[in-house]
Amino acid sequence: MNVLVINAGSSSLKYQLINIEAQEVLAKGICERVGSDEAFHKHGIDDNELVIDTPMKDHNDAMALVLEALTSGPNKVIDSLDEIDAVGHRVVQGGKYFSESAFIDDDVIQKIDELAELAPLHNKAALMGIYACMENMPGKPMVAVFDTSYFQTLPPKAYMYPLPYEYYDKYSLRKYGAHGTSHRYIAERAAQFLDEDLDDLKMITCHLGNGCSMTAIDHGIAIDTSMGLTPLDGLMMGTRCGAVDPAIVPFLMEHEDLSFDEVNDVMNKKSGLLGISGISNDLRSVRAASEEGDERAQLAYEMYSHSVKKYLGQYIVEMGGVDVIVLTAGVGENCDKMRRMIFSGLQPLGIVLDLEKNKARGGEREVSTDDSKVQILVIPTNEELMIALDTLDVVEHKRLNGEL
Ligand code: ADP
Repeated sequence: MNVLVINAGSSSLKYQLINIEAQEVLAKGICERVGSDEAFHKHGIDDNELVIDTPMKDHNDAMALVLEALTSGPNKVIDSLDEIDAVGHRVVQGGKYFSESAFIDDDVIQKIDELAELAPLHNKAALMGIYACMENMPGKPMVAVFDTSYFQTLPPKAYMYPLPYEYYDKYSLRKYGAHGTSHRYIAERAAQFLDEDLDDLKMITCHLGNGCSMTAIDHGIAIDTSMGLTPLDGLMMGTRCGAVDPAIVPFLMEHEDLSFDEVNDVMNKKSGLLGISGISNDLRSVRAASEEGDERAQLAYEMYSHSVKKYLGQYIVEMGGVDVIVLTAGVGENCDKMRRMIFSGLQPLGIVLDLEKNKARGGEREVSTDDSKVQILVIPTNEELMIALDTLDVVEHKRLNGEL
């Protein structure tokens, strides 16, 4: 069985075609900087990777390129789309409707659309992926895997907001979190890497990409996470502001004469690294500018690392300590400079980054010193594998019930 996993992010579309029986990735790739003039598509495996600079105005364009690359051209891996048995879609917000992965039908699509209010950038992107697949592969079984389900273990004191209780009753207004598939994957891989039982560890997982979130996992149970009702909350991100004083919303509406939608747009698309640096949401560009002496780029860098430090502190206190800190995603995996800034000055807490190990690139690795009390790991995330396995489960269940 081959499962095509689609992970549509805010500015990227990652995909993998996974053969489930062999747990083998047949093809993978990424469309990056979707929506910008610098968009490019990487497709292939290992040395066989093609990088094509190509315009992609949105995720629809990106999906068409992905399906074309899988079935034609020098790096094709299948003859036709018939060789794809099912498609698994990463969906950020499952809200109150989805406590587990769901077979995609009209009702599920309608609910994902409804929940887009809570995840403006991501649920819409996922829907574009779903529609593009439906158009190109009519009748193909598809499953939505939600990032929110991992956080169903959070206790009420962590997921409730100190607002009038009636809003929780009326709207299910609460913290749902996001990036759950990634946090679950890196937590499990980290325990395996250390040859320890996840249930014996106090762990903080940090997903630092364009979207950023952190989770406190106390003895295998997610007890708190930084994203909230929507993925706008928590850490400073590529274009999202993360947690700010809520009074800023009415202030901006009044003083800048902005509508609610415009404020939402500012906070989701024009803030974060982009808003502070005025250069880019891409940390590579911000890094280059800061190294050339651009003060706002340097400030953006400092604010980003400061934001991660704040959540480290919060979660260490919530759990009464930490054994392992795990970093993943574009920034967490690749940016040695950001890791240096995040962990600088944490020696008194027994958290010591090894500056030499920190320079290494690629793969699962430890980057803390041998005598650091807290182990710091870099674990490349693999949400796709988790999504593929979930997709298989849901589709097989349907088949067994005679519904497919
Ligand atoms: P998303 O999937 O949310 O779009 P990613 O996990 O792909 O995000 O991460 C994208 C971020 O990672 C971008 O800000 C990009 O600049 C950053 N990134 C990737 N590689 C590097 C690198 N070598 N150095 C610094 N930042 C990097």
